[in-house]
Amino acid sequence: MPEIQLAPYAVSISKHGRKFAEPAPSGRSEFQRDRDRIIHSSAFRRLEYKTQVFVNHEGDLFRTRLTHSIEVAQIGRSIARRLALNEDLVEAIALAHDLGHTPFGHAGQEELNSCMKDHGGFEHNLQSLRVVDVLEERYAAFDGLNLCFETREGILKHCSLQHAAQLGEVGTRFLNDKRPSLEAQITNLADEIAYNNHDIDDGLRSGLITLEQLSSVCLFENQLSEVRAAYPNLAERRLVHETVRRMINIQVTDLILQTEQNISAQKPRNVNDVRNAPPLVAFSSEMDELNRELKLFLRLNLYRHYQVMRMSTKARRIVRELFQAFTGDKRLLPPQFVVQEKGKQVRQIADYIAGMTDRYAIREHRRLFAVFDD
Ligand code: MG
Repeated sequence: MPEIQLAPYAVSISKHGRKFAEPAPSGRSEFQRDRDRIIHSSAFRRLEYKTQVFVNHEGDLFRTRLTHSIEVAQIGRSIARRLALNEDLVEAIALAHDLGHTPFGHAGQEELNSCMKDHGGFEHNLQSLRVVDVLEERYAAFDGLNLCFETREGILKHCSLQHAAQLGEVGTRFLNDKRPSLEAQITNLADEIAYNNHDIDDGLRSGLITLEQLSSVCLFENQLSEVRAAYPNLAERRLVHETVRRMINIQVTDLILQTEQNISAQKPRNVNDVRNAPPLVAFSSEMDELNRELKLFLRLNLYRHYQVMRMSTKARRIVRELFQAFTGDKRLLPPQFVVQEKGKQVRQIADYIAGMTDRYAIREHRRLFAVFDD
């Protein structure tokens, strides 16, 4: 297939480069090299055992952070290709966007953030950047993965102004109210498309939500009734999958059309114009409304389902008790996590806990707290 000619406002090369200068890669682009480094990182492999909504041991068919990240990359690349933007950059950002997530999904992140409130807090987007900038220790010449600026900027999706001010160049867009590249904007919304749709699929599979409940959600019901009309005798699993795949398709199509309109209205000539423009990658206002309804449904019926709440409460307790044990007595830490430098120990403990998989955190908690360990 011939190389796609990128749009003039696409990120074609890394303008801001890498922190540590390296010879240009041969046979692959700079962003392909970033993607490859991310795939070979240990944080990436750990995503397999980190919760998206369902804790990893609850079932083999639910999404994990790893399969979620791969779905985000797939959706993001499809959108980027259609808009003549840089697919490789989108893929790199997508595969890295959740590297900083704690075990146990949002419950784990919120608990760690509350444990860290007197020590600078804990933000998972910032932690993803910290993983690729500092925590991965794999290369001889530098800490981290030494990724391109544009990849790092995309990974740092959100950030408090207080933290942005300490990050140097990659934080300045938050302070100056500028936008990241279109590739980063795409990945952000591809993330949303992926989790809204796979949470419906996982929610139905788990039995925590039902097709009857979902009939109140327009985005779902419209597709479901079309599928039912065309295939009246479809088994339920297939019915669900066919409906969800159509939902993804109409959201992706809507996003592409609206973004094309925004681009032709705003006429960016280059990446710099994109940074100064309002966000250009967007859904139509109708789709925004439909998405809002869907998200509200998921929040009320899935994320706050009592069985999910029980799991979240246990998860919070594990994170809190690990944090308290380690900050209370650093001799309990594996030696590689003990630091002598004053003021750095608590952050190191947060890094240790954030890096744990669900099952590692459960085991570590058991090792510390079980009266009789087996
Ligand atoms: Mg995500």
